Amino acid sequence: MEYVKSVIRDIVDFPKKGVVFKDLTTVFKDPRALHIVGWDLAQLYRDKGVTKVVGIESRGFVFGSILAYELGAGFVPARKPGKLPADTVSASFEKEYGTDTIEMHRDAITPDDVVVIHDDVLATGGTMAAAVKLVESMNPRRIYVNCIVELEALGGRAALGDVELTSLLKY
Ligand code: AMP
Repeated sequence: MEYVKSVIRDIVDFPKKGVVFKDLTTVFKDPRALHIVGWDLAQLYRDKGVTKVVGIESRGFVFGSILAYELGAGFVPARKPGKLPADTVSASFEKEYGTDTIEMHRDAITPDDVVVIHDDVLATGGTMAAAVKLVESMNPRRIYVNCIVELEALGGRAALGDVELTSLLKY
């Protein structure tokens, strides 16, 4: 993980002044870092009976897909409004730099599913809390939450309440 940490790039004042953006595209493009993160994420959930991984648009799609593949689970995208073609459920939320909405297909999760919701970075937790709300509305057996980077000072963990959150790297 020290190697992965060394590969993550900090972009100061992006997308607005005062935000230090954790750029994980440098992890995505680095074969060694991609392999380490994909493997370590999968190790967290191997014995948990996970059937679906929800990835949050768009950086959550990369390791969300790898995690689903490694676990033999299905992949479900949580997307920006208007992108999903079939019947959707949606939730709006505040984030570190603005307001946003995410949508999922209404039939994406069923009551026999065990779900991991994944995003690359947890900041204020607004995005993840909205995703948890959407997944909860579909009544799965169990929900786990996962991110690669947790920005602890922004309090995302508290915003998620009781749900089990695991992050690979804390800042
Ligand atoms: P939040 O809802 O505040 O937890 O924001 C999380 C979402 O915004 C994730 O999809 C992140 O990819 C992105 N994000 C927010 N803040 C940052 C940051 N400082 N660095 C990288 N991504 C961020």
